[in-house]
Amino acid sequence: MSNPLPAASIILEDRYSVGSIFLVKRAKGLKFLGGFHAFPGGKVDPPDGGIANSQDPWDIALVAAVRELFEETGVLLCHDGLNHSIKSTPMLSQIRCDLVEKRTDFATVLRDNKWSLSHSDLYPLGYFETPHFSPIRFKTRFFLAKIPSGQTPEIFEGELENGVWGNASDHLKRWYSDETLISPPVLELLEKFKKSNPLDWRLSSASGLVSTDEFHLERVRFASWIQVVSVACPGPSVPQIGNVFLVGLSKFYLIDPGALDDQGLLAIQTAIQSRVNSGDVFHGILLTHHHPDHSNSAKHFADLWNVPVYAHPATAEKLSGKVQINHLLDDCSQIPLGFNPFTGSNLVLTAYHTPGHAPGHLVFFEARTKTLFAGDLVSTSTTILVSPPDGHLKTYIDSINRMAGFSPELLMSFHGCPSAFGKSVLQNAIYHREKRESALLAALANNFETLETLAQEVYRGLPDPLMKLAQKQILAGLIKLVEEGIVSAPTPGSEEWKLAK
Ligand SMILES: [Zn+2]
Repeated sequence: MSNPLPAASIILEDRYSVGSIFLVKRAKGLKFLGGFHAFPGGKVDPPDGGIANSQDPWDIALVAAVRELFEETGVLLCHDGLNHSIKSTPMLSQIRCDLVEKRTDFATVLRDNKWSLSHSDLYPLGYFETPHFSPIRFKTRFFLAKIPSGQTPEIFEGELENGVWGNASDHLKRWYSDETLISPPVLELLEKFKKSNPLDWRLSSASGLVSTDEFHLERVRFASWIQVVSVACPGPSVPQIGNVFLVGLSKFYLIDPGALDDQGLLAIQTAIQSRVNSGDVFHGILLTHHHPDHSNSAKHFADLWNVPVYAHPATAEKLSGKVQINHLLDDCSQIPLGFNPFTGSNLVLTAYHTPGHAPGHLVFFEARTKTLFAGDLVSTSTTILVSPPDGHLKTYIDSINRMAGFSPELLMSFHGCPSAFGKSVLQNAIYHREKRESALLAALANNFETLETLAQEVYRGLPDPLMKLAQKQILAGLIKLVEEGIVSAPTPGSEEWKLAK
């Protein structure tokens, strides 16, 4: 598990329209929440510490917040030598370009222009740590600031796509109607702002907003109807993090509860209990497939809450004697999630049989919002193991292609971060397999012939404990090539795979 990196973010308030705040849309290519809306901000750079008033992490974060805001929006929260705020001018735009393109650095910009940071105009608003769903994690300190008069934010396309002003209710309305994605801590802050008068935000002690304390996400939500609980679950060599989903609103299901330890069980149990306490009904457990990281605690929660477990017949067979499957789901089975009052429409999950990783593998797709719960069809953080005899590469690729045909947008990955660009995630997975196949063919052409030597050649540099898994992937690749007549399988008594003559 990674340690969170220090980061900073600014909630920029409009000077003339009370309560209006600026959200930016993160670009598609970003690994961490690309396509999601957030406040401007980014990682703390080591030189930020050299500019800061002290080495207190809040002072350093303040520098990072001002620098990132300037780079991303052109808004500069500084004063000149006469203590006047800075105005938007062509010169300021040029300095911003030089900074973004690294022709200069922030310390030089401040020194050369005799500018100093407007410390007293920035109010700390607490910090969030990224929950464990993401392999990239941040400890983000938030500041509240008003845009200086004479400045207007302007987004250059790059790390960001665009920016939008609105009060907390406007932003939240779009999110509740599934029109935009918002990163979970930003969502939590918008909910806090909505409840209090914007004029109180910086006065605060009464509304509890100005603070240097940690904020806790009560519920990690990626849509009004999608909540995530990230837990440790069994892994091929060491435990790994898996995302358990609570899907639905007043009626909800749990997808893939694979918790390994008491801490994980407690986290899932707390999430269920909190929903039930607020009047929602827990309807059942959906399993994408039988692997323990997805099914480990299904029986525990089914017994505890007396709810049914749903899975594909092939999964039911694999889990026979371990988990009682009460409802069988086949290709195109529908699971109604009930009415969504925020959009005025019904939410329905459709199960699609997507074998290849496991024989009974299902994904769950919500067609109206184009949301895909991917199970182990693809992952945004790791390569999915296709291990014979359960795994079959050709079938696996067909399953990915089939789901790409649905053009999913939000893809909820069991391992790793959600992605707003589901179709690209699926297409990248295919591309990755094609590259591996080319490497395997090249190794065969170079007379590497056994699983061991082929794996060492194709997965050069992989740590030893993972080599056994790599050999399984190689075997899956070889079986596909044998089926296509490109490779000859070893003759009895031999271990040598060869290109077909
Ligand atoms: Zn699996």
